[in-house]
Amino acid sequence: MTSFVREPQLVEIEGVEGSRTRKIGWNGKTLKEMLKESEELFQKTGRYYGLEKLEYKEQNPLVYERIFALIRGSLVSARETSMNISASPIVQELGELCFTLYSPEGDTIAISTGIITHVRTMSDAVKWMIRNDYEENPGIAPGDVFCNNDVFIGNCHTADVHTIKPIFWKGELVAWAGACIHGLDIGAVVPGTAPVGPTTCYEEGLKVPCEKIGENDTIYKYWEVRCERLIRNPIYWKLDEKARLAGCDIIRNAVHKVIKEIGIENFKRFIREAIEDGRLSVLEVVKRTMIPGRYRSASFGDVTFKGSKRVPARAAKDTVMHMPMEMTIKPDGKIIIDFDGASKWGYHSFNASPSAVYGGLYSISSEIIWPSDKINAGLSLVFELKLPYGSILNPESTLPCTVFSWGSFITGLNGLFRSYSRGYFSRGFIEEVLAGMTVCHNLMSGGGKDHLGQESAMFNFEFASSGLGARAFDDGLDHAFAMFNPEADMGDVELWEIVEPLLYLGRRVQPNSAGPGKFRGGNGFESVRMLWKTNNYELMWMGISIFTSGGLFGGYPAAGGYRREIHNTNMMELIKNKEPYPYREFDPENSEIRKYVKGDYVYEKRMIIPPEILFNQGDLYINSVRGGDGYGDVLERDPERVAKDVNEESILFRFAESTYGVILERDETSGKWKVNREKTEKKRKELREERGRKAIPVREWIEKTRSRILRKEVCQEIKEMYNDSFRLSERWGKEFREFWGLPEDFFF
Ligand code: MN
Repeated sequence: MTSFVREPQLVEIEGVEGSRTRKIGWNGKTLKEMLKESEELFQKTGRYYGLEKLEYKEQNPLVYERIFALIRGSLVSARETSMNISASPIVQELGELCFTLYSPEGDTIAISTGIITHVRTMSDAVKWMIRNDYEENPGIAPGDVFCNNDVFIGNCHTADVHTIKPIFWKGELVAWAGACIHGLDIGAVVPGTAPVGPTTCYEEGLKVPCEKIGENDTIYKYWEVRCERLIRNPIYWKLDEKARLAGCDIIRNAVHKVIKEIGIENFKRFIREAIEDGRLSVLEVVKRTMIPGRYRSASFGDVTFKGSKRVPARAAKDTVMHMPMEMTIKPDGKIIIDFDGASKWGYHSFNASPSAVYGGLYSISSEIIWPSDKINAGLSLVFELKLPYGSILNPESTLPCTVFSWGSFITGLNGLFRSYSRGYFSRGFIEEVLAGMTVCHNLMSGGGKDHLGQESAMFNFEFASSGLGARAFDDGLDHAFAMFNPEADMGDVELWEIVEPLLYLGRRVQPNSAGPGKFRGGNGFESVRMLWKTNNYELMWMGISIFTSGGLFGGYPAAGGYRREIHNTNMMELIKNKEPYPYREFDPENSEIRKYVKGDYVYEKRMIIPPEILFNQGDLYINSVRGGDGYGDVLERDPERVAKDVNEESILFRFAESTYGVILERDETSGKWKVNREKTEKKRKELREERGRKAIPVREWIEKTRSRILRKEVCQEIKEMYNDSFRLSERWGKEFREFWGLPEDFFF
């Protein structure tokens, strides 16, 4: 590629004697000057780079579309190619990677399929390098390779490692190629890439704040050595890095090809218009499909470190994360998302940053409101995020641990599903309504001496197939949804078994994992895993155990998770004697596992657990992936759907009556359950009457709840949660106190 590249000119910086910088921006400007100009023009005109018209697009509509398709195609092709270079199932099977093209100022032009989140995060990283004078030190030249995984610079968690490369044309930086891959290990104090246990930045493992890790398209030797020594699975790390580099080269080739075809000046016009085009198209969707106004949804998550010996004393407590979200849609289509009232950051692994929240916003918005191939920086220009300073979504320092920030921001952004859906519903776009996303965990993660006798780490990504929330016209899809990647996939069990010292005894739909409703959410699934050829392995639990969301329009939230592990089992004996063994739990109250397996059972509802008990061969870990939220009143569900659910083992028999008021009886010939219409109608009538008896006027309920608040009758964790919000957000506290008629200085 060097044939296209001229050595950049060295220019003296004004007023600084002896300093030399490469003015690598357009028309003799620095990138910093370009970024400043771009931001000022947007500030002044409200349009990207002040573009009044999309002239290039208007004059060459077909070329414009073809060039966009060519660039987008090269990004997708970079992704497909590099999936075959990496050896990690997270990449090969699940496609947890993406490739992106950025403008010189760091604004996204186009993105491949994959983890959409990084349309924004690497953009933040490029802008950070520009703002921090990387043009002067360490310098930016053709063939340079930068690496970043710092959440406070631009990322959603340290597991997502970025490779960023500048693309030059005749001495000018014309674009940046970005690649991101979710790795298997990050070298934290506990193994895996969603390590539960680190509580500050000092325990996070390998953190790379936009470092130059190579030049002339070659990685520095010392970088390779450093990664070899600090990462548990260096072979996977190295191949992931090669995969990212290869993809970036494909993108650079494509950009050079486009420039040769349409000329550099047209390319420059094209990339700016593509971003403004993106902005206009999001505005158009919002204006067409939603009603302006204020939409509010609160979400919650918990951290269960109380009594843990694996975290420092100050962290060993249970806390509840509070993330009230207010979305305001302006008449012009702009959207403000305000997390005023969010909890303070904490000593755990789940603190986020503005870049992470923006990334999550992209994931959800591109799946729910903007399912387009032209996702780019245009979306950022429509949204304004307000994240209280000092909160879990915007900490005031870089001390908080962000190793798995998804734990908080994915939970907080849950409110976005309900808010968008209410917007759609009020405008009549009923087919777009989605009851909500459950937080898809459990995330199974761990490490130790594996089945190959090596010290390694694992991060099982099968949670990328959780249940979709219910729609307003049908149930959610079973195990077919990932909010972070539009192409949900759980991966083949055989591939996971290659990298993990655990066998799959079974993988089945988990009944009742979805939220009930007129339309139920999609179900999640459970995997029964047995430790294999290891006697020294640590596994952790990473799943919110409380309800993260509330379901929609009377539908119920998806089920909370629970921890299920069994140690010192008789599994090896069962296998030796060729006796039956369990392949699922099915019904936790009548567990099929307990029928066969003797051992020390650890069952509990707390779900955020650092590695505590060492696992040995024959021990079991039952992983479960959540279902989606429900939509509408359960008593309005078609009884035939309930019978089908019971027959297909999507819900347990006893819930047909208790939840849905549907009475089933056996069909003698087929052996299947069928609806007894008469008894069902009677039962539902009784349930409705019971609701009537229990109901009280809202005024009365408010008064009752108010006196409960005044008596402070809530558990300690909830008291601390509210007090945190009061302290951080004056406005939110004032509104809460006014609503409940509390004294101005009220604290729990
Ligand atoms: Mn990731």
